[in-house]
Amino acid sequence: MREARLVGSLKYRNLRYTKNHPLRIPRVSLLLEFLDAIDLITEEEKVEGRPATMEELLLFHDREYIETLIEADRCQCVPKGARERFNIGSYENPVSPAMFRGSSLATGSSIQTAELFLEGYTAFNPAGGMHHAFRDRANGFCFINDPVITIEFLKRRGFGKILYLDLDAHHCDGVQDAYYEDDSVYVFSLHQSPEYSFPFKRGFLEERGSGRGRGYNLNVPLPKGLNDTEFLFVLEKSLTYVRDVFDPEVYVLQLGTDPLLEDPLSKFELSNVGFLEAFRLVRDFLGEGVYLGGGGYHPIALARAWTLIWCDISGREAPQKINPSGRKVLKDVEWEEFDDDVDRSYMFELLKDPPRGGEVREEIKDLISKVKALVYS
Ligand SMILES: [Zn+2]
Repeated sequence: MREARLVGSLKYRNLRYTKNHPLRIPRVSLLLEFLDAIDLITEEEKVEGRPATMEELLLFHDREYIETLIEADRCQCVPKGARERFNIGSYENPVSPAMFRGSSLATGSSIQTAELFLEGYTAFNPAGGMHHAFRDRANGFCFINDPVITIEFLKRRGFGKILYLDLDAHHCDGVQDAYYEDDSVYVFSLHQSPEYSFPFKRGFLEERGSGRGRGYNLNVPLPKGLNDTEFLFVLEKSLTYVRDVFDPEVYVLQLGTDPLLEDPLSKFELSNVGFLEAFRLVRDFLGEGVYLGGGGYHPIALARAWTLIWCDISGREAPQKINPSGRKVLKDVEWEEFDDDVDRSYMFELLKDPPRGGEVREEIKDLISKVKALVYS
């Protein structure tokens, strides 16, 4: 079995988004503290993340855009014209230490993760997966598109058939745009339908890519209230079809935790057990890949879900109960959005949620028939 590595850093504690932003919460630093507290990681398994170099950032982004991000970070202000031109400094994409320093650290860490994978490790960068950023424009809380830069890195290492698989509750518009006309990268995403969710204009089934060969782009837009059974049904069917027409040499998996029920920014209702099963299903189908984080706006739900993923990657049995020191780490999180009306005490007691399975709705079965026809057309 491959040895496991988690690429992270406690530096993210001080590289946060600004007040009131959904990403102001602790994420990677919380995960690291939690894993330490419940004794599920060794020092050897931790790899300190490094920032991306300019050369790496330019594998995808325009120089002027990156230089503007650096300038905005330096002054912690919005450079003249940057808001209109680069979408920097809005409520959605605010100037903060997370904007460039945090994103650059996450991007360097994604490249480290791919390097570790190529060296024979199984590696996970929970800070990665910022899938909305465009070549010259911030979008959806994302400034630097580390999945695209990771894919570009893999291409330069000689890979000619790369699958990008995105389990985040939101469509990966930045990644889709980057590879819409590129037959060497298949972009496959399950997400909330853009009819009711960000990014609204992209992520429809009809967007198939326009490369010279088949359309190597697959969007599966899903209805509100998605349960574990439905998510796994859709993933298994779709992945069967995709793998049939595109056998990848390597794949990059985005593991945003916002499909979980507790997440305040999505309408899906997965348990972390369903989320873990989805991860297992992907590994069963495709073997090991390059694992990145993604969205996730409930700090406790996120830390628990990625802990389960990490246990699987590192070959550990996940404990049932959260020990007192782990509980303390979770209880110490300051977050004004803990919902007082719902009893979420289970999140502090047990690592796994109760399963949230159910019927597969007819509309989802119909959708999968369409997906099948489309993939093979
Ligand atoms: Zn998301």
